Amino acid sequence: MKMFLKSEWAERDTRIDVVNPFNGEAFDTVPEATPADVTAAVDGLVEGAKVMRAMTALERCEILRKAATLMRARVDEIGTLISTEEGKILAEGKLEVSRAAETIDLSADEARRITGEVLPLDAAPGGAGKLGFTLRVPVGIVAAITPFNFPLNLVAHKLGPAIAGGNAVLIKPATDTPLSALKLVEILLEAGLPPEAIACLTGPGSSIGAAICTDDRIRKITFTGSVEVGKAICRAAGLKRVTMELGSNSPLIVLDDADLAKVTTATVATGFANAGQVCISCQRVIATPGIHDNLLDELQPLVAGLTAGDQLAEGTNVGPLVRESDATRVADWVREASTNGARLLCGGEREGAVVQPALLADVSPDMRLSCDELFGPAVGVTRAANIDEAIALANDTPYGLSAGIFTENLDAALRFTREVDCGNLHINWGPMWRADLMPYGGLKDSGLGKEGPKYAIEEMTETKMVVIHGQ
Ligand code: NAD
Repeated sequence: MKMFLKSEWAERDTRIDVVNPFNGEAFDTVPEATPADVTAAVDGLVEGAKVMRAMTALERCEILRKAATLMRARVDEIGTLISTEEGKILAEGKLEVSRAAETIDLSADEARRITGEVLPLDAAPGGAGKLGFTLRVPVGIVAAITPFNFPLNLVAHKLGPAIAGGNAVLIKPATDTPLSALKLVEILLEAGLPPEAIACLTGPGSSIGAAICTDDRIRKITFTGSVEVGKAICRAAGLKRVTMELGSNSPLIVLDDADLAKVTTATVATGFANAGQVCISCQRVIATPGIHDNLLDELQPLVAGLTAGDQLAEGTNVGPLVRESDATRVADWVREASTNGARLLCGGEREGAVVQPALLADVSPDMRLSCDELFGPAVGVTRAANIDEAIALANDTPYGLSAGIFTENLDAALRFTREVDCGNLHINWGPMWRADLMPYGGLKDSGLGKEGPKYAIEEMTETKMVVIHGQ
């Protein structure tokens, strides 16, 4: 495919292969953008920002509404594209298209709800006769930098609110998965978005990231990706607003009174979806002694029964990782943990980019499999003496994105919500669950700011205060 800037689809001589991670075959190419392309794209978006600022909320809503309808009509085609470039199984690829359409639809709803507030200025000393109100205005140009693992929906979570808020937007999708983002640009243009209001540049963040982050005409950077890159972007961004949706090694606490069948279902569903490449994947199960052994006995056959392989084939539960190098890293971390005393109950073997889903017991908190973000199909189980130790282990991490607890005890569940330092907390489910309308975002090193169209729009608009000085 081509990239899009200055109202045109553009080719470049240097092109990057887009590869199916299961078989390593290149099935398309995209241009490799340069820092000069970033400058040119932003030149175009300066004009686009003026057009967007003049557009009514109703017009923005209608464009987004139409885009959502167009997406829903192309679920099979775009779902297959997502699966082919990213590696998730077809059912997950199609689900992502439906969710992305929902995200764009929610953005359409929110475009009509951007309001200010009236302030009782006569409540202030010297405020008699005065009336105050706030206006929310677009920031101007938003830059959106996205990761590989949800190559459509995480792009929708940035483009939808940016457009709803009346901004022009530059999108830089992940190098490995640029096609889904380019499809969304195609659809937004078809839905009536002014072409000067959007640009999509393809290429590695290492070569064009700095040019994006240091361009002062960009007023807001919204980033989803790793902590390391997030910190580098914050250092480069200077006086720009930033939203950072970063990584995690999410815990699931299982107390003695938990419903075992529900725990095993949730652990498989939240630990192995998208081959564990979800920022809120269940990575660490922390179980108390009364349930620990039974949990391992029930979980092991379910994990061992998952079929890993070609993401496009019927019957596959777990596809490849996005790159073979990631599969090698995941298999190494599993091997390293078992060498250092963890019990490998199943999985961990690698073939190409596919890693067999793994379950490990006796995982200690200092193993990389536990203390770093794994982003792969393995779940480690750790024993905790009681809820105090379970909460301490859950919090023993620089991350704070999402956590779950299974218990029938309301007091224990409420204590978990108060004491576990994460942006999203799930009672009687694993850490991986998201409705696209929720405020979503991490604490600690997992990030800054919230997504979900309503909340992202707040971060992509600015407040002006107006005072009418009546007599
Ligand atoms: P990544 O950080 O390697 O890359 C993310 C994006 O940043 C890509 O588009 C990349 O090209 C770009 N980039 C790289 N270097 C850059 C630089 N110097 N300047 C600007 N941009 C640069 O992440 P990834 O491997 O694509 O995705 C996996 C990570 O994303 C995991 O850590 C995961 O937890 C995180 N993630 C977080 C959320 C969330 O909502 N919190 C959601 C999904 C993924």
